Amino acid sequence: MNLRERLIDRFLAYVSIDTTANPDTDRYPSSEGQRVLGKRLRDELAALGLEEVIQDEHGLVWGWLPGNVPNASPILLNAHLDTSPEASGKCIPHRIDRYDGGRIELASGDWITPDNTPELGALAGHTLITTDGTSLLGGDDKAGVAAIMEIVQRFVEQPSLPHGPVQILFTCDEEIGRGTSRIQRQQIRAIAGYTLDGGGAGTIDEETFSADLATVRFLGRNTHPSVGKGKMINALRGAAQFLSMMPAASDSPESTEGREGFMHPYHFDGGVAEAKVQVLLRSFDTAMLSNYANLLKAHGQSVSRTIPGLSVHIEVTEQYRNMADGIRSRPETVKLAEKAFEKCGYPFRRDRIRGGTDGALLTAMGVPTPNLSVGQYNIHSTREFASIDQIEQAIEHGICLLGLWSTCSE
Ligand SMILES: [Zn+2]
Repeated sequence: MNLRERLIDRFLAYVSIDTTANPDTDRYPSSEGQRVLGKRLRDELAALGLEEVIQDEHGLVWGWLPGNVPNASPILLNAHLDTSPEASGKCIPHRIDRYDGGRIELASGDWITPDNTPELGALAGHTLITTDGTSLLGGDDKAGVAAIMEIVQRFVEQPSLPHGPVQILFTCDEEIGRGTSRIQRQQIRAIAGYTLDGGGAGTIDEETFSADLATVRFLGRNTHPSVGKGKMINALRGAAQFLSMMPAASDSPESTEGREGFMHPYHFDGGVAEAKVQVLLRSFDTAMLSNYANLLKAHGQSVSRTIPGLSVHIEVTEQYRNMADGIRSRPETVKLAEKAFEKCGYPFRRDRIRGGTDGALLTAMGVPTPNLSVGQYNIHSTREFASIDQIEQAIEHGICLLGLWSTCSE
């Protein structure tokens, strides 16, 4: 079997396992499918002869490929097992060989078109894997998982490829902000790392949002509606008022791009007695997050003034921080990634990611970990697809990059 077909088989096998993260539980990992995929990867890494291969009690998968160059520093490769809860993860993948550059009809009747997906134009001739239009594909981040497994297998099979020690880490529940919550700093022996969890090809993400989560609770009082006069305090009205005060024409996901931050109300539930709104706060400028939190507090106070008796509580929790600062302490993480793209002959660019990655949290732990693209498209959407050609490029780049690192030592 050629390497490309092996990659396709591997990717199709991984996306066929439903690993949807579940934000409504405190269990870790939040869904059983992540353990199922993790066990399979553990077995594959062990079969390849890696050292220290474990699926730990939290479901995280670890492995260690010894280097074949003396004194080279260890480098971490990281991807996440879970998929976003924003759509079903029960995927029936569909393969398109030699994509013709036109509209793609999905089994559901939906379409991926150059209008809704402008990047399509550059992908003619590629092998694409799409969903059937009713679920995610899960290329975010099984493209990264498949690429890392291929990199490891190719190193094992081709001992002439130089590399230092490679530490492998597959995390759980990245999509619900818990990707690194069960990692102890001392478990990471690498001096730097790469997350393979990005869209398209040739992109090195060296900046992420800084991120907080605001949970806003509205506490009212329920009565039978027949005797509500003067007694009922409807928390739903408070939540609705609060939501209507949030900016939409600015500082929202719908109205911002590039370096602009936002407040994103993304979850609402409740009843008369109690209602809850959850709001994501995002900015490249960490200080801006407290401005956003203050604005929410002011809105909360104004709502409680207009609905006497209603109390509004806002809790803000830190999620992750912009990784740019940490990467500055080891700039070769980005420089060598650029050099590897040059060596492979692929165009590349530095970028920032309007989101976070496990890399942002690993960087905060002292392991600078920029993010690399791995052929993902339309992530978190039922129009998700992946380019096999670009996953191949990521593999080739990764092999070259680890070769460059093998000439560096501490
Ligand atoms: Zn991802």
